[in-house]
Amino acid sequence: FKNAPASVRDVWLSTLQFAERPYLVYQDERLTYAQAHEQVNAVAAWLAAQGVKPGDRVAVAMRNYPEWMLIYWACVSTGIAVVGMNAWWTPEEMAYALSDSAPKYLFLDAERLDRVKERPDMVDGIKLVGVRLKGDAGDVTPWADVIAHGGDMPDVAIDPDSDACIFYTSGTTGHPKGAQLTHRGCVSNLFNMLYAGASSALAVERATGVAPPATPPIPVTLITTPLFHVTANNCGAYATTAAGGTMVLMYRWDAGEALRIIAQEKVSSMSGVPVMARELINHPDFAMTDTSSLVSLAGGGAQVPPDLVQKIEAQVSTARPSTGYGMTETCGIITSVAGDFFVDKPDSAGPAMPSFEAKCVDDDGNTVAPGQVGELWVKGSSVIKGYINRPDATAASITDGWLHTGDIARIDEDGFIFIVDRKKDMVLRGGENVYCAEVESAIYRNAAVAECCVFGVPDERLGEEVGVAVVLKSGTTLSADELRAHCATIMAKHKVPRYIWFLDEPLPRNASGKFLKRDLRDRLNPEALSA
Ligand code: ATP
Ligand code: MG
Repeated sequence: FKNAPASVRDVWLSTLQFAERPYLVYQDERLTYAQAHEQVNAVAAWLAAQGVKPGDRVAVAMRNYPEWMLIYWACVSTGIAVVGMNAWWTPEEMAYALSDSAPKYLFLDAERLDRVKERPDMVDGIKLVGVRLKGDAGDVTPWADVIAHGGDMPDVAIDPDSDACIFYTSGTTGHPKGAQLTHRGCVSNLFNMLYAGASSALAVERATGVAPPATPPIPVTLITTPLFHVTANNCGAYATTAAGGTMVLMYRWDAGEALRIIAQEKVSSMSGVPVMARELINHPDFAMTDTSSLVSLAGGGAQVPPDLVQKIEAQVSTARPSTGYGMTETCGIITSVAGDFFVDKPDSAGPAMPSFEAKCVDDDGNTVAPGQVGELWVKGSSVIKGYINRPDATAASITDGWLHTGDIARIDEDGFIFIVDRKKDMVLRGGENVYCAEVESAIYRNAAVAECCVFGVPDERLGEEVGVAVVLKSGTTLSADELRAHCATIMAKHKVPRYIWFLDEPLPRNASGKFLKRDLRDRLNPEALSA
């Protein structure tokens, strides 16, 4: 890591060598690296001409269009920090993030422009650029005018410890916080990603006796999650771009559409959350689709249930299961694992990547005995600087460079990290900790279950009881008692859900594809079930 490029600018400029290779694919649109550089240069030169300077911020509020990446590389290469706005935010949430991050410009698409019109004061003092708008939109500068400006990439010296972007956490546990991802942090994460890819190639060689090709295949990555989060951006986009690969963007996740794209574009890996991999292999078209280009499948951002690791291994001929555990606060991955190592330890998230030290601590911050569970703390060059305007939250999350992940984990004798739950999510039942992920894994082993999400239900006597929302596969039946009996063959009695809700529609998810546990907890009524 000592010789790593110091800034994201260096990473982007190094991709000039890929010239005519396809870079961005969106529906029937295709851009080569050369075309992308031309547009990135135009955006960077235009912003400079408008007086936007290194250290300023520019916000992006749009779906996963190719322009997202072009704006990103233009800003980050010239020292302007990109504010990733969640495209699912309501006008109120947008207003909050805009006043929190105070960008000079906001690039937005038609749907986000409609939200701005509902609350015009949110863009007081912020200039707008419209992407893919239909018709004239008054004061909004059209994207075409920006590109027509043309020009070269401005010469800018970048401080490695300056912000490359502000990404908001997904808000799974509360209000999203604006994390400051530095150039050094993003580049460190890229190197962790490349290391993860290289070590999984070695794992394949160990298992099969066949050495991977000296020149690894050029990645074709299907980007299925939003570019305003680290999974798609700092992991999927960075690793693909640095290797001269192709990013295929989807407007929205759809398993059938993803299968069609995988076959057509010869996708080698999918950057997404595990539930997407499950939907893919459960899809009726899966068996008749040519997925032989896939080298890995599963995804990160949430626990991969162990049964899914086995299903990928058994049902997807060429793809090996792989995952990464990470968070916005680490600019991407902390751990990664693939192939045999994952199959051997399917409930593990893999070892910490080279830029990290990791330890599990008790409530007083003391390291627990080897193999014991505790909150995972990590330290290293990809930990964020802090949260903007939230010195309180920053101080509460980072102690002497150690980031408190908020996740409960254990580390085994091989250094493999097992994420057992979020600290805030685990169910405290009568003095026993029940880890949601463990209960969910057990429930997924029942073949009738399509989706499930476990959470704590307040209980007068025990503090909390275990509750679960379940969606069954179509055409199957399962009673609450049958599901409890299934669980009781796998787990101790106190972990077997007392409350079981069978829902007819898919479980609610946030923009990153994670279940909205708080939503379910607030919405589902335990009294109705007890009666
Ligand atoms: P917020 O911090 O706003 O509540 P969030 O934590 O969901 O939202 P992210 O930074 O997008 O925001 O997600 C990071 C979290 O996702 C981790 O702390 C962890 O709880 C979970 N996670 C990510 N990858 C994995 C994985 N492979 N296994 C288990 N959990 C994971
Ligand atoms: Mg978090």
